[in-house]
Amino acid sequence: MKLLKALSQKGKILLIMFRTKANRCSVNALIAALDKEKLPVDILLLDHEEFGKLLNIENISGLLNKYERIILAFGFMTTMLNSILSLTSSIREIKTRYKKRVVAICGGPHPSGDPLGSILLGFDYAFIGEAECSFPHFIRKVIEGEDYSKTLGVAYVDDEYLIINNPPKPIDLNEYPPYPIHRRMFNYIEITRGCPHACYFCQTPRIFGTRPRHRSIESVRHYCLIKVKHGKTDLRFISPNALCYGSKSGFTVNIEVLENLLAELHSLRKINPKVRVFLGSFPSEIRPEFISEDTIKLLKKYTNNKRIIIGAQSGSEKVLKEIHRGHTLEDVLNATEIAVKHGFRVDVDFIFGLPCEEREDVEETMVFMRKLLRLGNVRVHAHVFMPLPGTPYANKEPKPIPSRLRNELFKLVGYGKLYGQWVKQEELAKMIVKLRKKGVIITGYPVRPGKVNFKNYLKSNMA
Ligand code: SF4
Repeated sequence: MKLLKALSQKGKILLIMFRTKANRCSVNALIAALDKEKLPVDILLLDHEEFGKLLNIENISGLLNKYERIILAFGFMTTMLNSILSLTSSIREIKTRYKKRVVAICGGPHPSGDPLGSILLGFDYAFIGEAECSFPHFIRKVIEGEDYSKTLGVAYVDDEYLIINNPPKPIDLNEYPPYPIHRRMFNYIEITRGCPHACYFCQTPRIFGTRPRHRSIESVRHYCLIKVKHGKTDLRFISPNALCYGSKSGFTVNIEVLENLLAELHSLRKINPKVRVFLGSFPSEIRPEFISEDTIKLLKKYTNNKRIIIGAQSGSEKVLKEIHRGHTLEDVLNATEIAVKHGFRVDVDFIFGLPCEEREDVEETMVFMRKLLRLGNVRVHAHVFMPLPGTPYANKEPKPIPSRLRNELFKLVGYGKLYGQWVKQEELAKMIVKLRKKGVIITGYPVRPGKVNFKNYLKSNMA
């Protein structure tokens, strides 16, 4: 539990934010956006267990003796839905008791893909897409006692209507700090937002748009320097595709800008020789067609990466086409060969159980994985397909993992050639499908600005 006092005047409002390891970077970015506006709001950060303990009438009533209003804020992914569901009956109870003084809001990948289902869990408002602009605006309106329902980018339910406001303009990353500087809450630095590739299983382009927006080199350096001065010498970056930095379209490499960025980061070693720069490994990865002799030499020259992560997703050309990956198997093979040749250890991402995957695709994927593993210094990073709201595959069923493949995956784990959360994700995928069938996750309605009678929609679609 962490209480952050308002930066300017005494906080009149208490904002209680759900913060876990999984949503830490985006919660920090929102706190930074609030700090930028110097809003008189105290912020309490709670993890799941702490939130569970706090959410009862007695505790909330105690807090309401100190604060005029309380905002309960939850940012979450679909994979976190079970934890959220364990808190929603308490939220509803508190809301019934303190209708006017407690506001419950949600945002993040899940509510962005399914605002209606999220609101019906007991939230008053769902934030759709990025919220650095809309979130502080909403909080300001709450503080000033004004109407916050017109906030851009939020959705809410009014009687039988789902109302989705117009979205705010996509932000310029340079205008927003990646972490709350004054509170010394450091995290990875987002250098690129938005992805033009639009793979069918992925929420990223649906949340952040298809036009890549890059943080300028000056801004990246500025926030890295602050970290370095505070003894944070490992520098890691968030990007949908690490080597697309500086590319206008996001489809091609901008080698000059990429080198300028890396050289600038590398130069931070003059300030502290312990600085280590990582790009193209956790928490970002690289699309295969972005790896060439030129780009890999840049990583070799300027970064401390021993490992890089390449997104392949399937070993079947047919599946790659169907999921709209926009690259070929040859791209993956070529990228892996180049990276291995230059001394990198390579982790290659695969997703199993994709809805379009047939028996022969599984066989082809197994053959392709073996081919990559024979290059040496290669591991498979295994995932299982999960049908995420907001994606073209939101309504699809994951294909079961055939026993032949399952045995092979376990064998590779034993050889140290495969890692990942795929077993857990298989369970999560089942949970998602179950919640969709129960109507907790609602898909197939248009998530776009306007007003729709959702009761009619539910009647005709969930029957
Ligand atoms: S999987 Fe990667 S490349 Fe594909 S849309 Fe998502 S972020 Fe973009």
